[in-house]
Amino acid sequence: MPADAVRKKIGIVGGGQLGKMMILEAKRLGFYVVTLDPSKDCPSQSVSDELIVANLDDVSAYARLARKVDVITYEWELINAQALEELASMGHPVYPSIASLKIIQNKFMQNQALLENDIPVPSFARIDGVAAIKRLGDPSKFGYPMMLKTTLGGYDGKGVALVRTEADAGIAYVSLGGGKVELMAEEFVDYDMEISIIACRGIDGSKVIYPAAENIHVNSILDTTVAPARISQSTVGKAIKLADKVMEVFEGVGTFGIEMFVTKKGDVLVNEIAPRPHNSGHYTIEACFANQFENHIRAITGLPLGNVELSKPAVMINLLGESDGEARLVGAQEAYKDPNIRIHLYGKTNSKQGRKMGHFTAVDETVEGAMQRAEKARKIVKVIGV
Ligand code: ADP
Repeated sequence: MPADAVRKKIGIVGGGQLGKMMILEAKRLGFYVVTLDPSKDCPSQSVSDELIVANLDDVSAYARLARKVDVITYEWELINAQALEELASMGHPVYPSIASLKIIQNKFMQNQALLENDIPVPSFARIDGVAAIKRLGDPSKFGYPMMLKTTLGGYDGKGVALVRTEADAGIAYVSLGGGKVELMAEEFVDYDMEISIIACRGIDGSKVIYPAAENIHVNSILDTTVAPARISQSTVGKAIKLADKVMEVFEGVGTFGIEMFVTKKGDVLVNEIAPRPHNSGHYTIEACFANQFENHIRAITGLPLGNVELSKPAVMINLLGESDGEARLVGAQEAYKDPNIRIHLYGKTNSKQGRKMGHFTAVDETVEGAMQRAEKARKIVKVIGV
């Protein structure tokens, strides 16, 4: 077999929508994919060559996965890093590295690593009780409002609480499990915009950085992504520089999502890093030649990375379940009267109110045009439970 013959088998920990979209790209190049997920009905089940159904803290399941594949990756960071670390130490390639995963899993350690490398983050501090929150509430320190976060296990706003005034401190502390889990506080950033940058780095250190995209969250869950972000070129430049540095600091191999705040003064702070393709990078499927999932697969299999230039402005809107029950997509017939709309349905059997069930993307020659198409489709396309 020639040295560059592509015949790798890929193992993916997690079978959610991100895993599914990774696999759709992997299959184009003929990779064989094995997924590990607790649910036999997970989104990846319809496209995986094999599915190992096991809990994500089941160490033996990780070993079974490793025996079947040449390289392991993950689509979710809240997984058993220890199990993967053992496999990596036994010579099973795991990308992104477990060293970076372990730091990123903990928001306090993540911020610390960024700060040590001169990457600006909001001021933060560990919290060991309500009194500590109140001390930081002093106007000479963080003041109010203040963000309280669990250091481990948060996502989509779970594990984040806004402390509006000193009177909120106790409630916020208890609501996040203070005393039982580790908490940290962050100064509240009165930002102008939330943006994110998707970046991808290969095993050889080569790197591609997608354009900055603008994110609008509703109830702490991503609602809309606009690409390119409507910010000045100098702010874009700062954000790209930070993203580049983040990839170097974590020696990231694969696609990373880097969320940032743009302050009213035009400063850029890093909010959160995901060592995997990111919801705010779904627009790349329609708007870039090589999307974030394809480049992830290329990176972890040692292939050169693909072109990430934006070919057209795009707006992505998440489809959250509107109600509970068996999932049904409605409105596709009507929405597809616009040929520049594309719907992605993840294949989750059950809809739950607020659950990410799919998304759609609109492209156009201008951001305004893409926005108009997307907002029109938003009124039509829904995922409901029946
Ligand atoms: P998650 O892991 O749930 O995505 P984040 O830390 O990204 O948690 O916080 C969720 C949302 O809360 C962010 O997208 C942002 O809107 C808001 N947020 C988080 N940290 C801050 C902060 N320091 N200042 C202002 N808003 C924040």
